[in-house]
Amino acid sequence: APILLWFRRDLRLCDHPMLAEAVETGAPLIPVFLHDEVVEGQGAAPRFRLGLSVESFAKDLDAIGSKLVLRRGRALGALRELAQQTGARAVWWSRAYDPDARARDEEVMAGLDAEGIETRDFEGHLLFEPESVETQTGGFYKVYTPYWKAVRGRDPGAPLPAPAKLPAPESWPESARLADWQMARDMRRGAEIVARHVTVGERAARARLDRFVAERIEDYAVARDRPDIDGTSGLSENLTYGEISPRACYAAGLAARDDGKDGAGDFLKELVWREFAYHLLHHTPRLASRNWRAEWDGFSWSEDGESDAATAWKRGRTGMQFVDAAMREMYVTGRMHNRARMIVGSYLTKHLLTHWKIGQDWFADCLIDWDPASNALGWQWIAGSGPDATPYFRVFNPETQLSKFDPEGAYRTAWIAEGQADPPETARDYFRAVPQSWGLDPDAAYPEPVVTAAEGRERALAAYGELRGRP
Ligand code: FAD
Repeated sequence: APILLWFRRDLRLCDHPMLAEAVETGAPLIPVFLHDEVVEGQGAAPRFRLGLSVESFAKDLDAIGSKLVLRRGRALGALRELAQQTGARAVWWSRAYDPDARARDEEVMAGLDAEGIETRDFEGHLLFEPESVETQTGGFYKVYTPYWKAVRGRDPGAPLPAPAKLPAPESWPESARLADWQMARDMRRGAEIVARHVTVGERAARARLDRFVAERIEDYAVARDRPDIDGTSGLSENLTYGEISPRACYAAGLAARDDGKDGAGDFLKELVWREFAYHLLHHTPRLASRNWRAEWDGFSWSEDGESDAATAWKRGRTGMQFVDAAMREMYVTGRMHNRARMIVGSYLTKHLLTHWKIGQDWFADCLIDWDPASNALGWQWIAGSGPDATPYFRVFNPETQLSKFDPEGAYRTAWIAEGQADPPETARDYFRAVPQSWGLDPDAAYPEPVVTAAEGRERALAAYGELRGRP
């Protein structure tokens, strides 16, 4: 009987433990992708980017004698129907760790098990399974540095080769058409503008990794902090859909370190931040939706995502250049530099006293590299409500940060059109991408600060004092 291989965030052929083991069985294999309840719940940019990934992966499967069967509907029902139609007695997938995906997978497992259909999940999305890293007392890690020390000596193993061919079934079940799913439909902005900035698929991801190691890893330790420099790998977009495995990235980083390349150790550490985020999310699913530290429930955040302040933040109109440049970069490219993510996060949660969940949701709608674990950890880290968080009183000053990390003003120039006689295309693209209803005009004056750096800092510290003063 054929095996159904249900692909989700693992859209690759190389270093794919499930695929490797499936080929070993010699059984006919039916690769499947579902537009299911989890995909349905995703934001506009992630869904758009996912569509591109599915399209690319389907081509890669074609090239090795297989196909990607597409179906839409609740996962359990869709898989049950496919099993009936194909005679499959087994459904395999790569493990997921975020609460939504876990709830879905548990439902599928219970439903299919009850019908005698075998279900199996495989490793592959992470370097280290979350329960395989334990403190000395058998608990999980809440702080990054000890986590890093616990895993840094481990060997995640060598990446597996891609199968040369997949055994096909005698006949293929019907498939939906990807175009009919209109994966870009919720993009308020022009999807074609964001599409200029994506790097899609397994081959492109590998080329990106190789180029990064050859050209940029050496300077990574310093360059990674500069939003005006193309100093990072850009791989988050590929890792989130599994177009490349973390093990392939880690192996490349280890090899570069052995070659004596300077920034390689820092790159490995960043890859392990992604692991740490999954470790925490797995052990404390509340990381995704509630203050990780419950005492923060008493903090006076505004939870109004439509307030003037939140709206100015989302639209890149706060009057703080670093914040606005970053918010516009995200809107046009679907990405934002890590330092900028910290700055906009700090400004929203501290200067604007707005709940981190509003920022988390906006990122989940706008980022093509949206990742349920890294986004949640990033927001709780910057807000101060998370484990191993920056202390709340560490309020980033967006003005001094800008002069430090964008010393020549290249980042500002790239993203803020107002006040420039001849703004670059990137800055103009922002005004082409935003919905008309926002009423933005590149020739209008640049807005005054919603709240100044000093005023915002004072307000934030006063609110924090109140929280601390509570009985
Ligand atoms: P590189 O610097 O080349 O790093 C290599 C890889 O290491 C990245 O691709 C990523 O997988 C991992 N990594 C690096 N920094 C972090 C980090 N701080 N946390 C977790 N993993 C990291 N990352 C996402 O992938 N998706 C998100 O939705 C996301 N949301 C964030 C929200 C906030 C508020 C903050 C502060 C950070 C967020 N990050 C998120 C983490 C980080 O900003 C991005 O991973 C990074 O900017 C991606 O660029 P890169 O691939 O060029 O990274």
